Amino acid sequence: MSAQVKMEKDEFENVQVVVRVRPINSKELDDHCQIIVHVDSITNTISVYNSNATYEEPPKIFSFDAVFDSKSTQVDIYNETARPIIDKVLQGYNGTIFAYGQTGTGKTFTMTGTKTSPQLRGVIPNSFAHIFGYIAKADENQKFLVRATYLELYNEEIRDLLGKDQNHKLEVKERPDIGVYVKDLSGYVVNNADDLDRIMTIGNKNRVTGATAMNTCSSRSHAIFTITVESSQIGEDGQQHVKVGKLHLVDLAGSERQNKSQATGIRLREATKINLSLSTLGNVISALVDGQSLHVPYRNSKLTRLLQDSLGGNSKTLMCANIGPADINYDETISTLRYANRAKNIKNRAHINEDPKDALLRQFQIEIEQLRHQLEEGAHDNSDSDDSEESKETMDEHNPKINLKCHVVSSVYNKIGAGNLEKRERSEVHLETFNDLDIIELKRTQTEKEILRKQILNLQNTILVGGENLLEKAEVQESLLAASAIELEERKRREEQLIKVIEEKEAERIDIEEKYSSLQDEAAGKAKKLEKIYRMLLSVKAELHDLQQEHQREMEDLLEGVRGIGRELQLQELIINNYIPLQYQTSIERYVHWNEDIGEWQLKCVAYTGNNMRKSQVNLNTGENKDKSSFL
Ligand code: ADP
Ligand code: MG
Repeated sequence: MSAQVKMEKDEFENVQVVVRVRPINSKELDDHCQIIVHVDSITNTISVYNSNATYEEPPKIFSFDAVFDSKSTQVDIYNETARPIIDKVLQGYNGTIFAYGQTGTGKTFTMTGTKTSPQLRGVIPNSFAHIFGYIAKADENQKFLVRATYLELYNEEIRDLLGKDQNHKLEVKERPDIGVYVKDLSGYVVNNADDLDRIMTIGNKNRVTGATAMNTCSSRSHAIFTITVESSQIGEDGQQHVKVGKLHLVDLAGSERQNKSQATGIRLREATKINLSLSTLGNVISALVDGQSLHVPYRNSKLTRLLQDSLGGNSKTLMCANIGPADINYDETISTLRYANRAKNIKNRAHINEDPKDALLRQFQIEIEQLRHQLEEGAHDNSDSDDSEESKETMDEHNPKINLKCHVVSSVYNKIGAGNLEKRERSEVHLETFNDLDIIELKRTQTEKEILRKQILNLQNTILVGGENLLEKAEVQESLLAASAIELEERKRREEQLIKVIEEKEAERIDIEEKYSSLQDEAAGKAKKLEKIYRMLLSVKAELHDLQQEHQREMEDLLEGVRGIGRELQLQELIINNYIPLQYQTSIERYVHWNEDIGEWQLKCVAYTGNNMRKSQVNLNTGENKDKSSFL
């Protein structure tokens, strides 16, 4: 497809930004906090009053794509904000939903919610019901494959929340054909909404357990739940086409300024890294909005690398900024609203992802065809006792300890793929010498056929046919969502009518005001205007004051960071100057170079450097294995 054709298919759209205010909590009530946030859902604005203002300061007003007050329900949020994005994902677009805000303002409540009742479930589980509701209603010629991953980013380290080994740290890699990805991240193919729900629950448990075990705080970690929906259909050209939509659901770390006293005890290097991803996210947004920056620093953090497409790229993106209503959070609330306000100006261009290289649906379908073919031919093999063992093992994996009816995509797929290929090669040889009187051989063939049938069945189970009802327990959730979507449309229509009436009334009022009947009236009118302008002046002054303070705080943070890094540098220099002889230092400097792509220093011939050489020497001397020697 030529670049021009592709351009035409791109849909240009700004990042959608909505704000949700949580209800006042009991602690804030006990502390007699004032409510300083006012939500106007007609004009889609949020007004924040400064209760500590020294002079008569007007409220700060911010406008967004939608605003939700403390009475808004989870279903409202889903239908008004997330539903359009998930609809696009089902058509093959990428989608991203971020929850941003201070700790305790309802990010996790919005994204995950609570399990106690269908009404309290968040965006993530509601999307499960939505996706499988769509599949249930789809045409039966449409085939689907749904898979999910769940990861956590803490201190620039990636943890697979669905992985077997929770201590294992994963790496971000990049390939020209498929782009940025996380190496070895477990992906699960799912058959229904309940499977996805179980996966989410396991991941959430691992998130909490991990944070407790590492003595860290989960509010400082980012969690990314990704659902990939592949769908295939025969196109006008008679060929089968696969569309792939990727949905990232992101619960970001708390955006509050790190309390410095909290950082004591943690090693400085960690402390400076903890919110690197979040501050880089801010810098990426600034660079995108600024319009003058040639360089957008996506590569400076793992979060922005993984979500590069979501900001300024190929994705339909929504940011939900969560805030609290109370006066004690004034600074953080204003800072969140400013941040969110900037994000509104990011321009994305999304297109349907057609026939991408990493689609699994087609691969699985080809695999099924091959297995079927093999079955019809009557696969036959004398020496495949190992093979059938492996096949059994593969099938056992389909029902792992976590009791999910799903499959680890890469390992199962590779195993089935490799086994099949070998078998086919061997069967061609053995068909020539096949002796139909040999009963034992016949039995063996039957067993093989059985194994093949099971393999086909397993692969077929991963592919979902449009029209199948796979909702199970999620059915209630889906009907709840559907009913409220209809209600919502009705409400929207009424609201639009109301807005029209208000606008007409406003216009009438202005008209009347303009018609001064006497000089006295004119004076009164002018005084009113003056008053209005004076209020505007005050508001601009307050804004200026706020911005200056915010810059001051940011500057202090940066200086603190620079001082910390300076100290760290001095330590490294101390070690280098006292332990590495000067001629080696010069030689290292000669062979080292900065790799801009991965943001790391790289040493040529690193295998021959001191510590690596020592490792092999120790091995030679003691015969110890490599694993142990690396601890020396
Ligand atoms: P965050 O993830 O931003 O740190 P949480 O989602 O954990 O915040 O919310 C903090 C507390 O407030 C939780 O007990 C949550 O149930 C409650 N909460 C947040 N938003 C709402 C809301 N809109 N309605 C009711 N309770 C809420
Ligand atoms: Mg949270």
